Amino acid sequence: MPHYYIWTIGCQMNKAESERLGSFFEQRGYQATATAEQADIIVLNSCVVRQSAENRVINKLNALKSLKGLRPGLTLAVTGCLVNSDIEQLKKDFPYVDYFFKPGVLPTEGPQWLEKAERTQALPQHPPPSVYVPIIQGCDNFCSYCIVPYRRGRERSRPVAEITSEVGELVRRGAKEVTLLGQNVDSYGHDLADKPDLADLLSELNAIDGLARIRFLTNHPKDMSTRLINTVACLDKVCELICLAVQSGNNDILKAMRRDYTVEHYRRLIAEIRSKIPGVAISTDVIVGFPSESEQQFQQTFSLLSELRFDTVHVACYSPRPGTIAAKKLEDNIPAVEKRRRLNTIEQLQESIATEINAQLLGKTVEVLVEGKKKGKWQGRTRSDKLVFLSDNDDYLGQLVNIKIEKTSPWSLQGKIELSSPQ
Ligand code: SF4
Repeated sequence: MPHYYIWTIGCQMNKAESERLGSFFEQRGYQATATAEQADIIVLNSCVVRQSAENRVINKLNALKSLKGLRPGLTLAVTGCLVNSDIEQLKKDFPYVDYFFKPGVLPTEGPQWLEKAERTQALPQHPPPSVYVPIIQGCDNFCSYCIVPYRRGRERSRPVAEITSEVGELVRRGAKEVTLLGQNVDSYGHDLADKPDLADLLSELNAIDGLARIRFLTNHPKDMSTRLINTVACLDKVCELICLAVQSGNNDILKAMRRDYTVEHYRRLIAEIRSKIPGVAISTDVIVGFPSESEQQFQQTFSLLSELRFDTVHVACYSPRPGTIAAKKLEDNIPAVEKRRRLNTIEQLQESIATEINAQLLGKTVEVLVEGKKKGKWQGRTRSDKLVFLSDNDDYLGQLVNIKIEKTSPWSLQGKIELSSPQ
């Protein structure tokens, strides 16, 4: 039996696409292997959103070059955001790679395994309890620092009927929760004939029997609508979780980032979300060390995060991505050591905020969807996306269980099965 190995780095969209690529191989008689050395086909699903990610991809490609030298019959393919429009240049740079194909599509040329490919992606035969479902590809926003629109192209939404039928099938095969993915889910549907929006899609999915939970990410503050917030508030299966990247607490930096909203607008949006969705968890993304970001501007970001007290903050140091507006027009003039200091400062702040937020769950009973085992413990997530561990010998995989929280940390919770209803 031939074997495949998929190496994935980057966002949930890449993870979702790798899951489907894996199903695609399995439906064609391939078996997954734990290491690249045992595989007949290796696919690298790449990310170049940050320099560090790109470096890891290049290092991996270099390591695979020797493997390919030892085993010339090995097929090596690369997809993901490394694959830009200039595939001929990539072929020159990495002549030992057999195939490059763009993210979000299966290739239409190649050896036997590719020739049979359909452009629609495969669904897993035995999906995990929680599954990613891409609903919109690409992005039209062109934030000045971001490479995504250049690599994933313009926004393309999948029709409501196609997504609904896919989610129905995933539920029939065992999935309990879906996370709808898009670089900007608030743009969903604007390019379709009857212009449905995310609220319409959520309403359709909420009616699927057997589906327990629906999540979606990522939202854009300039596009998130009151209609969507109201819909989240009233649909029982839609989880109380909003991922809303702020990126900076200073309006001049937001303008240089081409984010198209102000700090004041963002604050109002958070207030509206919290007033309408009780118990909502909110996560955000922040970039520190954007070109010319002064200490005072950084402090405004720090103050905003202290004030809004997010459940989760993903913080990254700015790194110029060749081809983006910021890389072309703005000097990367904040020293790396200063970027790192700002990042550490935000991480310390968030650690203390998350410690306090999670400590409020001590002694409470929460509903958890058990997704798997790690180091001998069951792990799953609450509706608000808190990671929960459970030590118990019974089999809970794929079950919604009530867990009484006995221990909390900034990153996770721990507890035991509770037979009463969640509080
Ligand atoms: S919204 Fe901005 S940051 Fe997000 S993918 Fe689009 S261009 Fe990139």
